[in-house]
Amino acid sequence: MTSTIDNWQPRIRVLTVIVIAALLAGLGVWNEITTWQRLVLSSNNRLLETARAIGLHTDDVFALAEQPLAQLALKAQIVRQDQRPEAALLEDMQSLRRSSTFLNEIIYIQADGTVSHSRPDAMATTAELSLEEYSGFHRSHASTDTHIGTAVRSKSGKDWLLPVSRRIDAPDGSFAGVLLATIRLDHFARFIESFDLRGDTAFYLVHSEGGVLLRYPFWARSVEADLGDREFFQDQGPAKQQGNHEYRLQSGESRLSGYYYSPDTRVTAIVTRSKSALFHNWVTRSKYPWACLIAAYVVGLGITFRWLRQIRLREIGDRKVAAREAEFRLIANASSDVIEKHSMAGIREYVSPAAAILFEQAPETLIGKNVTDGQDEATRTAWRSAQLRLQSGSLAETILAQRQRADGSVIWLESVLSCVRSENGAPADGIVVVTRDVTRQETAKRELDTLAVTDELTGLFNKRYFSQHLQTVLSESPGAPVSLLLLDLDRFKQFNDTYGHLPGDNCLRDVANAIRSALPESGAVAARFGGEEMAVLLPGFGQAASLLLAEKLRRAVEALKIAHEANAPSGIVTISIGLCVLPKGHSETSETLIVSADQALYEAKSQGRNRIALSAVPAPPLKQFAAI
Ligand code: GH3
Ligand code: MG
Ligand code: MG
Repeated sequence: MTSTIDNWQPRIRVLTVIVIAALLAGLGVWNEITTWQRLVLSSNNRLLETARAIGLHTDDVFALAEQPLAQLALKAQIVRQDQRPEAALLEDMQSLRRSSTFLNEIIYIQADGTVSHSRPDAMATTAELSLEEYSGFHRSHASTDTHIGTAVRSKSGKDWLLPVSRRIDAPDGSFAGVLLATIRLDHFARFIESFDLRGDTAFYLVHSEGGVLLRYPFWARSVEADLGDREFFQDQGPAKQQGNHEYRLQSGESRLSGYYYSPDTRVTAIVTRSKSALFHNWVTRSKYPWACLIAAYVVGLGITFRWLRQIRLREIGDRKVAAREAEFRLIANASSDVIEKHSMAGIREYVSPAAAILFEQAPETLIGKNVTDGQDEATRTAWRSAQLRLQSGSLAETILAQRQRADGSVIWLESVLSCVRSENGAPADGIVVVTRDVTRQETAKRELDTLAVTDELTGLFNKRYFSQHLQTVLSESPGAPVSLLLLDLDRFKQFNDTYGHLPGDNCLRDVANAIRSALPESGAVAARFGGEEMAVLLPGFGQAASLLLAEKLRRAVEALKIAHEANAPSGIVTISIGLCVLPKGHSETSETLIVSADQALYEAKSQGRNRIALSAVPAPPLKQFAAI
């Protein structure tokens, strides 16, 4: 169950990151979409505002053009009725044209086709303006309203002119002619230019009946060529006077527009711009911020996934450690040995349950305490030295210590210490200690050790140990005073012969015990030197003390009063002692000491036995020292 949850957790994390990343990306896209929509909206608002402003201005321009035409129409009718010379009308036409800043020329086309120009030169090259067409139009349309025509180029081809015309009726209502004025569009163009129509933005005037009248920027080819969806704009009437319209050209290009319909002139002013160009501009402007955002997004996503991977790896590591710890605790719990973890300073951090049996203390009561607490000085020193050696690079240390149990028995505990080292070679961060009860092994070992140095019959040290000890004493304290006693049972062969070998052994044992008991508590070492001969080494003993002790030993044996009838004159077991004393500052070897003591023993035997003889070892040349 736990492992299933563990497997799901990283997936849920990754899924969460993906969802958050998708939400962020969605938010970014949504933000961009709304930004774009706002941009389109503000563009539409601008187009509409511009269309309305230019449309209203167009109304004024037409009103200004309409006024002189109305005056002239009235004059023409008067001229006709009064049959006055037409020169008067021409004069008025010329004066009106001169007084107007934007009227290019005024033309009077009579019903019979006679044409009068206010500026005879102006129309000559304006081939785009068909007078016949205007005459025909008004002949067939009874309305006397001002008719607005399609813009045409001036004679020079540089300027653009907008024709406005008006029918003149005869008194009977029949067609009497047409008054046609051309309006110069240069100042109108300047007005449009003041709106800062950039790039592909274009302005159109569309008449609800007459189609496209004007395009700005002025277009060399047909003005209708590129508006698109003309029907829509022509259909706009008073019901929907202004608004925005998005449409698509035949080329596939999408265009935004704002329009304003003037009910007076029935002309719609349209300002339009390419939507794809707007989009292109927007993309061009936004691409660096977008690139930065996408890069930050990708880097952020990368960092997040890397971070997730590190969390995952750490979790796997932690799980491995937990599994190892669980294994370790299983082993520790099941083990009869006490397994502990100490800090490098020896503070117990973990103690396995076996402590309750081995240390007779609950593990929890030991945790946090120093391992040397409550130990004797020797054990404390042993622990401190072992810890120092481990810190200096030792791989393992062993400490053997005795422990008194609650029942008074003493047990031997062996603790093996090893450093906890990480795999990457970092400094050790603790010590693992495994402690076991080695009482049985230690007792057996000590018994073996004792056996190895003990004489089986007498319980004294054997000769091998004694020889080693003698060497040690001489080498460790060269020149220090030392005495050797060689003790030999008197006429012991005859004892055996008289009482038998077994009583002989018992006798030897009793004599050895008497000697051991008579020895001082420390310093003296007694050994069976061979057969019925024993040796006592007395380090630090001078001649007087040695003689006193030798005498004490002799008497101790005598005091046993073991019958030995062949040993005249006492008739009891006695010993002879050869004593060699090496004074302070000597330089003798162990051989000299033994040989000298042996010579003294021989001397004691010769002199009658049951006595002590002192070997004569020459004293060191003191004079020589004095001379120096
Ligand atoms: P002396 O006074 O000159 O020392 O005479 P001695 O008989 O003691 O000396 P000797 O060297 O002739 O004999 C030593 C005897 O000690 C011989 C041997 O029977 C006896 N002996 C040596 N070792 C043992 C032992 O382990 N047990 C018994 N029972 N006798 C031993
Ligand atoms: Mg003897
Ligand atoms: Mg002997």
